[in-house]
Amino acid sequence: MKRERSAQLHEQALDVILGGVNSPSRSFKAVGGGAPVTMERAQGAYFWDVDGNRYIDYLAAYGPIITGHAHPHVTKAICEAATNGTLYGTPTPWEITFANMIREAIPSMERIRFNNSGTEAVMTCIRVARAYTGRVKIIKFAGCYHGHSDLVLVAAGSGPSTLGIPDSAGIPQSIASEVITVPFNNVQAFAEAMSKWGSETACVLVEPIVGNFGIVAPEPGFLEEVNRITHEAGALVVYDEVITAFRFCYGGAQNLLGVEPDLTALGKIIGGGLPIGAYGGRREIMEQVAPLGPAYQAGTMAGNPASIRAGIACLEVLKQPGVYDEFERLGAMLANGIIEAANKHGVTIQLNRVKGALAVYFTDEPVSDYDAAQKANGEIFARFFQLMLNEGVCLAPSKYEAWFVTTAHTEEDIQFTIAAVDRAFSQL
Ligand code: PMP
Repeated sequence: MKRERSAQLHEQALDVILGGVNSPSRSFKAVGGGAPVTMERAQGAYFWDVDGNRYIDYLAAYGPIITGHAHPHVTKAICEAATNGTLYGTPTPWEITFANMIREAIPSMERIRFNNSGTEAVMTCIRVARAYTGRVKIIKFAGCYHGHSDLVLVAAGSGPSTLGIPDSAGIPQSIASEVITVPFNNVQAFAEAMSKWGSETACVLVEPIVGNFGIVAPEPGFLEEVNRITHEAGALVVYDEVITAFRFCYGGAQNLLGVEPDLTALGKIIGGGLPIGAYGGRREIMEQVAPLGPAYQAGTMAGNPASIRAGIACLEVLKQPGVYDEFERLGAMLANGIIEAANKHGVTIQLNRVKGALAVYFTDEPVSDYDAAQKANGEIFARFFQLMLNEGVCLAPSKYEAWFVTTAHTEEDIQFTIAAVDRAFSQL
């Protein structure tokens, strides 16, 4: 497969766009380097690069594109928004409709605010939790990504239950040291951290199903214990459902799992492919936010009609009967096909899956936390990734990024993908 134009454009991009990409995860650094593929058109489950090659898309733009690209219902909503003005700086009727739709689906979000990204949603949840509790510290779980704000771009210190260290240059140690990072799915480590820091902790931040080192479900009882211990300490539970909401059911992972946080952050899917974030939670906690309360949050673009109307349309598509059953059916078919191909060719993998989201790790150890995910073999993944690209299947260029099935994927696409995986595994 030739990608000459992609290579040329990457050269041009390097000259003007820092690193040639507008988000570091788009670079091919982790898969052997070289020019990332430059896409120029997308429809349904496919996109086409600037050299005219077609790919089946499992990246789904890192999650948002759950109804496939340019879904007619979503496209219509965006066009209607465009012809009526995309930004008013005033309240609009659609934001009320949309907030009601979200609250009906995720009842713990008694009051809601829209903003522009997952990063903003999480960052504001933390501010609100701090305002409500009058405390400062945050506890989060290793490997979970909560956006690029200073508050959460923090790695674990030298051991569990130690204060964090900045995970990026430019973040003050003073901010990082307010964050404690513990392993996911490890109640004991969490309980230890809480016994040490619980009384100073404003909130515990958790992806209820992890989507940032592949797909990792919580072990039975884990989230319930996190809730119990957090509340006993007088702190708040914040679910980062930026990846998970509306992915596994029409609602949050919290609805699927039967656990309830105090605050929830949303993004990605709820924008139907346009920029959005949202946060919400218990009424008395949310009432901390201006204009009602002393915690400030604002946004020029917040609640813009284009994102809101695209989001409404996207949820309308997802609300159709059978959508999540089909994710389950196609997700299982894809997972089984990959596992069969791995067995046939003697390739060691672990496969985690929830509905239409799955992760393939090249490792022999089951993956239930970040430590295990990190042990996945990046060199084998890099070869697999390039082979799949040449087969016309686009994955995320990271050894533990999730694959997402969308409503646009068909059984034929899944079979095509399995055949490609089979050929790729035969060459590893
Ligand atoms: N939280 C989670 C769980 C995410 O996966 C992401 C993005 N990958 C974010 C927050 C940040 O969202 P955004 O990129 O929209 O700022």
